[in-house]
Amino acid sequence: MTPAAHAVVDLTAVKHNLARVREYAPAAKIMAVIKANAYGHGLLQIAKVLEGVDGIAVARVDEAVRLRKAKITCRITVLEGFVCEQELDELMQFDLDCVVHSIGQIDILENYSAQKKVSVWLKLDSGMNRLGFNPDEFVSAYQRLINCPRVKQPISLMTHFSSADDKESDVTDKQLRLFKQLTESYSGEKSIANSAGIIAWSDSISDWVRPGIMLYGVSPFSEDCGLDLGLKPVMSLHARLISVKKIKAGEAVGYAGTWVSKSTTILGVVAIGYGDGYPRAAKSGTPVLVNGKRVPIIGRVSMDMVTVDLSSQANSKPGDTVTLWGEGLPVEEVATYADTIPYTLLCGVTQRVRVESVA
Ligand SMILES: *Cc1c(COP(=O)(O)O)cnc(C)c1O
Repeated sequence: MTPAAHAVVDLTAVKHNLARVREYAPAAKIMAVIKANAYGHGLLQIAKVLEGVDGIAVARVDEAVRLRKAKITCRITVLEGFVCEQELDELMQFDLDCVVHSIGQIDILENYSAQKKVSVWLKLDSGMNRLGFNPDEFVSAYQRLINCPRVKQPISLMTHFSSADDKESDVTDKQLRLFKQLTESYSGEKSIANSAGIIAWSDSISDWVRPGIMLYGVSPFSEDCGLDLGLKPVMSLHARLISVKKIKAGEAVGYAGTWVSKSTTILGVVAIGYGDGYPRAAKSGTPVLVNGKRVPIIGRVSMDMVTVDLSSQANSKPGDTVTLWGEGLPVEEVATYADTIPYTLLCGVTQRVRVESVA
């Protein structure tokens, strides 16, 4: 029997994609970004397959602690850092590196009483206006950190791009110039590039690169897909057909009847919906694969089901496998039909979907 909605995670593809990162950035150390449950692929299994990588980055302290408790021993950086002394305690206790992006964090470090030290990445806000010190505050933050007994020396330096997925934008060059200008006299290691930087902005490849989405085989750019960049998709999302029937011309399908048949149509019902993380915004026409062949979804996506037009695949029957994205159907393409980015689709797969891995 075909299993219900499930995701297959291809661990060999992760290794392939890591090797692609090394080809793009042969001299750099790699900080593999596995925040948000490794972009929906399973935090621990992805961490284990990346064994041997120079470092790992997650967003939050609790993600990093889970990794340490699972015996992941490489450098782990917490990208959002800490907000209070208790979190700093945890960072010290579990030997985690952290990003320092605010004055409040430096105050906490300076007042910390225990005789321990933490490795820090001082973050410059080079234009994104999210986390980091602005250029006016950056030098004094650096001075305070080099004088802080709780901070291991030398201090590492980083920034993050806001628009590197847009190859035409001039923002990335501006961010790059600002970072280089403010950090060139500092000896610590530097890190700038996310996946888009690694692939499209070779000047941004410095001591460390921080690939995320490309490790999962997905392009950071809206105009191409991972396969074009020599990457292999890691996640395939599957479900099964549970009903096949004929409807007459003029019949409205699904909630609000947004799709109306023009002629007799063979309609299939697939047991996956937004309750599984399939995007409700996917428009009529979004492709899925039924037994490996493309057919369009029709009508609204509901919580547990989507409807498809099987007229071109009239031999399909309940129990047949449907692929929503992955091998043979890039998640990038589905994201375009749903007016979103592939990141949200991968991260959005819910608990109900069983994740199995193949090596
Ligand atoms: C998420 C994140 C990355 C990875 O970005 P991708 O676009 O997935 O490669 C790198 N650096 C920081 C600071 C991030 O938050």
